[in-house]
Amino acid sequence: MDIKEFKKNAHKTLDYIFDYYENIEKLPVKSQAAPGDIINKLPEKAPEKPEDYDQILKDFDSIIMPGITHWQHPNFHAYFNSNGSFPSFLGEMLSTAIGAQCMIWQTSPAAAELEQRVMEWLRDLCGLPGHFHGVIQDSASTATLVSILTAREKVSAYDINRHGFRGSRKYSIYCSAEAHSSIDKAVRIAGFGADSLKKVSTDENFAMIPSELNRMIEEDIDNDVQPLAVIAAIGTTSSVAIDPLKEISDICNKRGLWLHVDGAHAGTAMILPEFRYMIEGIELADSYVFNPHKWMFTNFDCSAYFVRDKEALIKTFSILPEYLKTEEDKFVNNYRDWGIQLGRRFRALKLWFVLRSFGAEGLRKKISGHINIAKDIAEKIETHPDFEILAPVNLNVICFRYFHPEKSEMELNAINESILKKINASGEIYITHTKLKGKYTLRLVLGQTELTERHAAKAWQVIKQYATQ
Ligand code: PLP
Repeated sequence: MDIKEFKKNAHKTLDYIFDYYENIEKLPVKSQAAPGDIINKLPEKAPEKPEDYDQILKDFDSIIMPGITHWQHPNFHAYFNSNGSFPSFLGEMLSTAIGAQCMIWQTSPAAAELEQRVMEWLRDLCGLPGHFHGVIQDSASTATLVSILTAREKVSAYDINRHGFRGSRKYSIYCSAEAHSSIDKAVRIAGFGADSLKKVSTDENFAMIPSELNRMIEEDIDNDVQPLAVIAAIGTTSSVAIDPLKEISDICNKRGLWLHVDGAHAGTAMILPEFRYMIEGIELADSYVFNPHKWMFTNFDCSAYFVRDKEALIKTFSILPEYLKTEEDKFVNNYRDWGIQLGRRFRALKLWFVLRSFGAEGLRKKISGHINIAKDIAEKIETHPDFEILAPVNLNVICFRYFHPEKSEMELNAINESILKKINASGEIYITHTKLKGKYTLRLVLGQTELTERHAAKAWQVIKQYATQ
């Protein structure tokens, strides 16, 4: 494809994208494909001869699109959102077009310096402490792994990086029983072993109980196990429960434990000052992550990771072979040293486009709009005789179920599971589930970029319709 053909094909592709967005609401939200549907339409061998772009685009439409679940559909209410927005797409298009690999300052000074600046913007917009240094990671999972590895090195005086785990010293890491599975994964990858992760029990609101955390730490100390780090959740995945950060941070501070805060989804709400009570105590945390790629209209991937001690982070990850040395090393941020990857995409660009296009005011308006819509629907669910709310609605996620007093818990679980299946098979909306205290729970997430009251009302109507059936 030469530049002339590229121009022609790019215009066709853009037209396809415009049509897609103009008609997205006509598509089933969740792909209706069955396993094997797509692969069976794909040739077993790669093509030997160049193929025509029109045919490739046609096949994209007929083979690939039916296997796509439309995350940008305003009736998408599953998991947490993975939001995009038009400014973000445009930033991403330019980043792809430039194709810069931004591993060190010299390989694109603008990428490094823009990343530094947008992360400062984001830190200040969200009311995070001025001593936080920000870096964009691909995902919250990676950020949490980076945090746990940094904690491991700082606590062991960088000995484990050098010699590996030696002797019989055992460590413990703590999170709540409701914390995200990325923490389990990070603890395993960091070499501690799954048993080193201690799950602290939660209260009636699914938030960590600090006195339990304290008790477990003391028990470990008595058993000659070294407490190493605590991961607090500001917005758990199942129900957006908020761990009491102030008390947890005091415990960590008193005992010299590393504190990482996982605000993957809820973190975006910190642009609204009225929700900053959720991160009271953050000034004592060692690191914090939230995902603009979830709720801040910045398409995947873009995870904002903030760390207090940037020297500890760099010391954990820096390896400097001759071929990567540059004259500027002492004066600039080389983000290859701030995480796992060497090669890095220019992610700051889309975030810059989003922050400038929406403006802080536009972001606050959208986020508070989502939260208000969720409050309104939650009220309707709560007051309906056939439904019950199963967790506090802290932000924009509603955990609820169909309820009938004459049905057993087992029957209710089966009924709710079947309601979920029917709703999703309809293609009208897409919601997912979790289990809270053993109860099969429907989760309605109201956070898609283009969500309005109309979409929320439709979700509620579809839920009622299938529950009645
Ligand atoms: N932490 C929480 C609370 C989450 O809900 C999620 C994902 O939904 C993650 C971490 C992992 O996020 P990522 O997909 O960016 O790794």
